[in-house]
Amino acid sequence: MHIVRTRTELRELVTRWHAGGDTIGVVPTMGSLHDGHLALVRALDGKATRRIVSVFVNPIQFNNAEDFSLYPRGLEADAALLEQTGRVDVLYAPGEGEMYPPGFSTRVLVQGLDKVLCGADRPGHFDGVATVVTKLLLQTGADIAAFGEKDYQQLGIIHRLVADLNLPVTILPVPTVRDADGLALSSRNRRLSPAARQQAAILPATLKTCLAAMKAGQTVAASLEQCRTTLRQAGFDVHYLELRHEDTLLPATQAGPGTRLFVAASLDGIRLIDNMPVT
Ligand code: AMP
Repeated sequence: MHIVRTRTELRELVTRWHAGGDTIGVVPTMGSLHDGHLALVRALDGKATRRIVSVFVNPIQFNNAEDFSLYPRGLEADAALLEQTGRVDVLYAPGEGEMYPPGFSTRVLVQGLDKVLCGADRPGHFDGVATVVTKLLLQTGADIAAFGEKDYQQLGIIHRLVADLNLPVTILPVPTVRDADGLALSSRNRRLSPAARQQAAILPATLKTCLAAMKAGQTVAASLEQCRTTLRQAGFDVHYLELRHEDTLLPATQAGPGTRLFVAASLDGIRLIDNMPVT
């Protein structure tokens, strides 16, 4: 596995690969890798002959400087983990100046989907995500790129931008990987204290309870309110807990096919997100 730091070196490699008939698969990440990221790498099996994992903590998607500075980082451990998979050709880890040279002033805005849920909660976040993902897809010459359903809203935004900008890439959605207690794996989980980490399992458990209540015939509004209360009583600061349509992300008043629960809640100031479909 090569570690590549510059766009020029990456461009030489991908040009050579494409000329040789390779299919390039890409997994964009912010590092601090865990098994959720590795599931994205494995999802490319049989779909790409070359695989690139990018690690870049993207400053322009953080609307909070402290959150950016505290975001976990560890390139050596990331490289070791990727090496162990035996599946990755390149770890692309550009520096900030490589990604955003002086004078950088362009943004990719995916209007509509970017204003609800996490977009309302973190203004500008999805502009930063859409911009960096567009750049990474162009830089890597990706034929296929894997993204996790854990960030379901992000996935919808990426589908939209790829369609709208006619980017020649297939987007591969990958189901959420969870710990044994149900908590969705996330780099941010590393910032939880042992006690908070234990408490965090209440988040997915509450989503399941909420889905079960709706299935049992309780109204959507009452089920959501009950589960918001459960989370608050367990010490969470609930940013949102909502039932939305998967395609438009508009509020849903009936739990049925194509609807999904979305939650963002903080524990000890660490922001956690999750989502589960109505089945
Ligand atoms: P991040 O490094 O958190 O920006 O995530 C990079 C990619 O990994 C995104 O497409 C995420 O949706 C995906 N991802 C993160 N956590 C998980 C998980 N637990 N299961 C599946 N995919 C994940």
